[in-house]
Amino acid sequence: MTSSVVTDAAQANAAARTKPARANRPAAKPHGQWKVDGTTPLNANETWKQEDNGLNVRERIEQIYSKNGFESIDGTDLHGRFRWWGLYTQRRQGIDGGKTATLEPHELEDKYFMLRVRIDGGALTTHQLRVIGEISTEFARDSADITDRQNIQLHWIRVEDVPEIWNRLEAVNLSTTEACGDVPRVILGSPVAGIAKDEIIDPTPLIHELSERFIGDPELANLPRKYKTAITGHPSQDVVHEINDFALVGVVHPELGAGYDLWVGGGLSTNARLAERLGAFVSADVAAEVWLGVTSIFRDYGYRRMRTKARLKFLLNDWGPEKFRQILQDEYLGFELPDGPAAPKPPTPGDHVGIHEQKDGKFFIGVAPTVGRVSGTILTSLADTLEAHGTTRLRTTPHQKLVILDVEEDHVESLVAELDALGLSARPSLFRRSTIACTGIEYCKLAIVETKVTAATAIAELERRLADLVDNGTLTQPIALHINGCPNSCARIQTADIGLKGMMLPTPDGDPTPGFQVHLGGGLADSNREEAGLGRTIRGLKVTVDNLPDYVERVVRQYAADRKNNETFA
Ligand code: SF4
Repeated sequence: MTSSVVTDAAQANAAARTKPARANRPAAKPHGQWKVDGTTPLNANETWKQEDNGLNVRERIEQIYSKNGFESIDGTDLHGRFRWWGLYTQRRQGIDGGKTATLEPHELEDKYFMLRVRIDGGALTTHQLRVIGEISTEFARDSADITDRQNIQLHWIRVEDVPEIWNRLEAVNLSTTEACGDVPRVILGSPVAGIAKDEIIDPTPLIHELSERFIGDPELANLPRKYKTAITGHPSQDVVHEINDFALVGVVHPELGAGYDLWVGGGLSTNARLAERLGAFVSADVAAEVWLGVTSIFRDYGYRRMRTKARLKFLLNDWGPEKFRQILQDEYLGFELPDGPAAPKPPTPGDHVGIHEQKDGKFFIGVAPTVGRVSGTILTSLADTLEAHGTTRLRTTPHQKLVILDVEEDHVESLVAELDALGLSARPSLFRRSTIACTGIEYCKLAIVETKVTAATAIAELERRLADLVDNGTLTQPIALHINGCPNSCARIQTADIGLKGMMLPTPDGDPTPGFQVHLGGGLADSNREEAGLGRTIRGLKVTVDNLPDYVERVVRQYAADRKNNETFA
């Protein structure tokens, strides 16, 4: 592999790998790598995962739990294997964030579930959308959130209703299979796959193949930890590939034509780390085998002793990209991958918001529900509206947005107006466009802080307070505001211009109040910064929920006043 494939991120990651060896270091404990240390389980999760594959819980849900109710559910199934079918218990209502760390898990949970509908590539028809909408209104109290991994999540699900929900989803080729758990999660795909004028390569056949061949395969259903995949052939690099375990990014090889650039080992939360290029060019005809090879490396060599060190990024950190590529080629593929070029910096943002012409002369319209929050009623109305305007296809995006496909030119403006009436704006403000929020305290057992309403309130306030900067042309680029309800990173705070990590903050009178730790200056390739990078935690900088609009207004006004030569926020 040539040195030119080593990116800045790779250099930073390499530096972390080259710490000097300590003399008299005690013998290292085994990492729990199946191919090195054997398959003896080294923690409780590994024990129950080996005792009974998570996928097997479906039969018990259908035959026992749905008939006998919540109280009949075995504890390990409830808190472990249910995830393999996209089910988590949701937070009991009314428990404030200060109690999250002190209560036992069973005291925090409700007898209702969050159910995650897996949407590989984000590809939906209006028929499928209507089914999700109807499930929401009938079984989920009209709840629905579009997530930043192209899934749709419903809440308030009773175990009694799960078999019927599966029947309805599977009748339209949707599922909850491996939507959570230590498995290959939903495959992120470019929301404009197959339709964009400037597409390098269409990943749709590959995403279909991976989904059909490998999702639900028991051989790949006990990985050390979750495993995230992202695939795009669009030059905007619109699938946040740098924070996935496995990613393919469309690129043109000077001799071999269009294919993919291979990235591995990205992930946020504990020890956030950007993925690295392996410097290998992956043609479409071997891409599925390469995915299987990397996934198998993770299964066989991934670390299973400590769950906090189990993501693929820790193995990549120790091996480095050269060794990783060599083992992939020698032990899994049986052939060498050609060296390949890096994809150029994206020419446009990758959120696809707005009105754009497709390669067939029709149009696609990207719209922004506020922080992904919709409802079953909205989803059903959306299906009706799209069909009335002559289209049946849409996509979810990794930015909590929707993209409507195949709109004839003479239907564009009337459709945009009707979408707007549903709260789905094709021309959102800079803040509505670029703010995302995780589930937060409304439903998440780990949450400390409310997120969705906090974000919606901040957006409305910032639209009002900063209108002057937008109107006079000072502020032209979206400023990404990402809001998390706890120290995890479901809303990718390290990759935002302004990232907010939920925590309780002390007040002068001694009563803790909900607030955020601030991260500044992150961004990925598809944002408006020069290159991907993780934001800095500003240690002393914390802001209460109530003061959030004041804080963001101050930061943005200062940026606008100090900015030189159109420099970006990052
Ligand atoms: Fe829950 Fe924390 Fe993830 Fe938000 S970031 S959804 S609060 S685990």
